[in-house]
Amino acid sequence: MTRPHIAVLGSTNMDLVAYVAKAPQRGETVTGREFRTLPGGKGANQAVAAARAGATVAMIGAVGNDAFGTQLRSALDHSGVDTDLLRTVEGPSGTAHIVVDDDGGNAIVVIPGANATLTALSAGDRAEIASAAALLLQLEVPLEGVLAAARTAREHGVRTILTPAPAQPLPPELLAATDLLLPNEHEAAALTGITDPAAAARALLSQVPEVVVTLGAAGSLYAARGAEPVTVPARRVTAVDTTGAGDTFAGALAVALCKGNSVPDALSWASAASALSVQRTGAATSMPYRAEIDAEAG
Ligand code: ADP
Repeated sequence: MTRPHIAVLGSTNMDLVAYVAKAPQRGETVTGREFRTLPGGKGANQAVAAARAGATVAMIGAVGNDAFGTQLRSALDHSGVDTDLLRTVEGPSGTAHIVVDDDGGNAIVVIPGANATLTALSAGDRAEIASAAALLLQLEVPLEGVLAAARTAREHGVRTILTPAPAQPLPPELLAATDLLLPNEHEAAALTGITDPAAAARALLSQVPEVVVTLGAAGSLYAARGAEPVTVPARRVTAVDTTGAGDTFAGALAVALCKGNSVPDALSWASAASALSVQRTGAATSMPYRAEIDAEAG
């Protein structure tokens, strides 16, 4: 089977992570235990997940002309993601400043930096999207850019999968150009005001034809117009770090759907991929390769 081709438009961030026993209060200074810089951003994470899961992937995004920008680009290159459409712009790269405490709780400040420049598409971006089997979108870059990409995909009959994170009100035009909406349960509740995931998914079906709500260790729920929602269980594993679980799921789901699998089969394969990722630390670093996912999925 040839490798499906997937386009991703979204964020690229350097995650700056401080590990501390207890997070500082306002005005307080604490000594932390460890510091790590980890390539992240939901767009880049989904691109790496899809590439490792077996697709050829083009990343449309922007990094700054700082040292982080160079590192972020080379991390994507190393994962086999095509970065020809990743712009380098004047100014800082996107950063996420993360404090993780010993209880596993975290506090995060995201500064969009170069990601904020992604407001319009180039001719090359449009050609890339038009030639893809699927387009993966999230909301860590300006809505104008996301909307332009979704419109281009719709014009060319390319399947659009939108992860509505961070949760925010969505323009009807964006939902109208989305084929599959992929919120986690918190995002589904924020979008609809409904806490029950099945009821939230049903409500979202008035705006998009297919919805998958991810439910963490409880698995995922699939809803389509004219059918009862179906729940796909998660694998029973011992999770050590669930960062990036949803992005791993999105990348693997897109690959499986592009290969012509039914949605339930694709969800099962994506569950296997994300179960592997939660058993390892990190986001992109924890993402599994196709052969591992096939072995896990059985
Ligand atoms: P997000 O990372 O976006 O919050 P979720 O937490 O819902 O997304 O996780 C996405 C998917 O990852 C789930 O649908 C599930 O298949 C898998 N997953 C997440 N946490 C676990 C876990 N503790 N054990 C097994 N699978 C998990």
